[in-house]
Amino acid sequence: MSIIVQKYGGSSVENKEKLEIICNKIITEKEKNNHVVVIVSAQGKTTNSLIEKAKEYTCNESNIDKKDLDFLLATGEMQTASLLSLMLNSKGYNSVCLTGSQAGIITDSNFGNAKILDIVSDNILSHLKENRIVIITGFQGIDILGNITTLGRGGSDLSAVAIACALNSDKCEIFSDIDGIYSADPKIIANSKLLDEISYDEMLEASSAGAKVLHNRSVNMAKEYNLKIVSKCTFTDAKGSKVQKGVKEDFDIHFITKKDDISKICIVGPMMLSNRDAISKIFKIASEENIEIYMISFSELAINIVVDTSKSKYFMQKLHETLIEKGE
Ligand code: ASP
Ligand code: MG
Repeated sequence: MSIIVQKYGGSSVENKEKLEIICNKIITEKEKNNHVVVIVSAQGKTTNSLIEKAKEYTCNESNIDKKDLDFLLATGEMQTASLLSLMLNSKGYNSVCLTGSQAGIITDSNFGNAKILDIVSDNILSHLKENRIVIITGFQGIDILGNITTLGRGGSDLSAVAIACALNSDKCEIFSDIDGIYSADPKIIANSKLLDEISYDEMLEASSAGAKVLHNRSVNMAKEYNLKIVSKCTFTDAKGSKVQKGVKEDFDIHFITKKDDISKICIVGPMMLSNRDAISKIFKIASEENIEIYMISFSELAINIVVDTSKSKYFMQKLHETLIEKGE
């Protein structure tokens, strides 16, 4: 029996009607005598609402305890997994829902952006052996102290790819409300083309540059394990787009994308180009504060850094503190 690994994103699991459609897709695979493992996101905008709620209940937004927040955010995916499993069981299909922890997803303790260290798949395998459909919460794991962690926004793709790799599956199907991977965001470019396939490296560039199709860390992991990702639509029968090892040599342009919500910070001083101390401090702060640097450029009098808008004010404060206040 082969193991089918499918992931359904937030907009695909939004309500009961959509979950019914997913049930039917799962049942179709099960009826073909396959093992089925399904990774789910939180319903619709649940994660955003939980973040807002956390802010509402704390007096200082910038000081939210990351461990407590992960505990809260993990409940979004748990609701979906539970509802889907309830539906399948009530239809007479033997199903079980597992948290990240129960699925053996071991992470580091970097709350809010944890890295997967290992997947101990014994529990998943024993349920499959009992012929159960296994529904797993995406986006979360557990650290070695038993704390619940989350993998970063959009992290369910990563959960799905990691589980597919751990189960030695030959592909991971990622379902969303679009037909697959387009040459550009169809919401911006009406004439964008649906791609039949794209290489890991190109997809990685595109995801890191802001394309909202697949999480960049999931593409990176798939590349490492040579696992094929198929990006498909939950609601149509379109065959979707494959992300896999590039084999063709061509000069075609495949993808154009842009990153939303980024800000540029400019640090000015004399001889910036050779100011190694400042440069190393900038990277140190970014790494300690978990801030991704999308682009950095140097000139004689300035260092320009591109980061997420949501983090730019905080990063600026930290840079000011270290480079200017402490340097006085
Ligand atoms: N629910 C999480 C988020 O909204 C994870 C995911 O959907 O992949 O970021
Ligand atoms: Mg997603």
